[in-house]
Amino acid sequence: MKTLFVSAETDPRETRVAVTPTDAKKLGKLGWAVKVCRGAGVKAGFSDAQYSEAGAEIADSGEAGAADFVVGVRKPSADDVAKLKKGSFHLSLLDPFNEKALIKAFADAGVTAASFEMIPRSTIAQKMDVLSSQSNLAGYCAVLKAATSINKIAPMMMTPAGTISPLKFFIVGVGVAGLQAIATAKRIGARVEAFDTRPVVEEQVKSLGAKFVKIDLGETGQTAQGYAKALTPEQIELQRKGMAKVCAQADVVITTAKLFGRKAPVIITAEMVAGMKPSSVVVDMAVESGGNVEGSKPDETVISPNGVMIIGNTCLEASVPATASQMYGANVYNFIEHFTSDGEFRVNMEDPIMKSCVVARDGKITDERFM
Ligand code: NAD
Repeated sequence: MKTLFVSAETDPRETRVAVTPTDAKKLGKLGWAVKVCRGAGVKAGFSDAQYSEAGAEIADSGEAGAADFVVGVRKPSADDVAKLKKGSFHLSLLDPFNEKALIKAFADAGVTAASFEMIPRSTIAQKMDVLSSQSNLAGYCAVLKAATSINKIAPMMMTPAGTISPLKFFIVGVGVAGLQAIATAKRIGARVEAFDTRPVVEEQVKSLGAKFVKIDLGETGQTAQGYAKALTPEQIELQRKGMAKVCAQADVVITTAKLFGRKAPVIITAEMVAGMKPSSVVVDMAVESGGNVEGSKPDETVISPNGVMIIGNTCLEASVPATASQMYGANVYNFIEHFTSDGEFRVNMEDPIMKSCVVARDGKITDERFM
């Protein structure tokens, strides 16, 4: 029987676990001997006893080196990779565009490394798409974080003491996180406007009951994978001008504008922040990849000179670790199950999903972008 090892996350900010007890049980039924690093699920609310009850064995971190399959949420260290078994399979969020040395470490160790970020955005791969499952939660968390940080309530209220106007939210970037942010902001009673450079998004924004902000940027478009194309400096300038007034009137601005594998564009300048209302709140969800907002800092909350709060959480979904782990674990299980046939997990490099997410195999880096 092959062994699957569930790592404990070492980044102190991380609260999620890659496999929940429910998924551990399902993986057992699929034929794996599941070992879970001691305490791996504690921050997400899953005890070692729950994993044991699900049929998994509680193990020490060193046992990862003997496993056939190792799964985690965040990337391991190069030292840990060197201890993995030759021929084994590793799956986590490897951040390959920024971690070329780590991808080389996998190749040097003879380990097949699969990067969750590289799962294609296809219908068949949706069930294992961690970027989507986690961004969706992050969009939800961003709205609640803003709503509990601002000094006003979100919904309109008509009371004997007067009428309270609803909060005005402006969501910039309407991918998975942005759509959930719009839906959540609407649910708490806010008035919502949104903008994206991909024109196809307008209908989706309207169907959620929000207003699409129209800014003419000329030719924009999207890649075959559905990601936004980078704007020219002139287009970015046009976008900033078009957004400045909406930002100035907003109580909350949430930016989610990312460019896959590249630095995020700065679309809200310090001058635009200076034009915003005091006590308004900005959540920069692109802060980890460079930031959409001038002055935002990873994992810090900054107050601008005119009193705008700029929140830079890099992993908002970590604030709902039980749900985030439930979704991440389901993605892990679906990935393994998808590639299991006749009771065996098979690395089929002809398969478009496997080909896209495997970044190192048989001693070589398999994607030239990461060499
Ligand atoms: P993302 O996180 O890469 O980017 C977030 C959003 O920011 C995108 O909508 C993008 O267009 C937008 N953006 C980029 N530059 C901008 C700018 N200057 N101003 C305003 N907005 C800007 O995107 P994502 O959430 O990963 O989704 C990307 C696309 O993939 C979407 O079309 C989504 O529906 C699609 N998708 C498909 C699948 C699937 O079919 N399996 C799964 C997930 C996402």
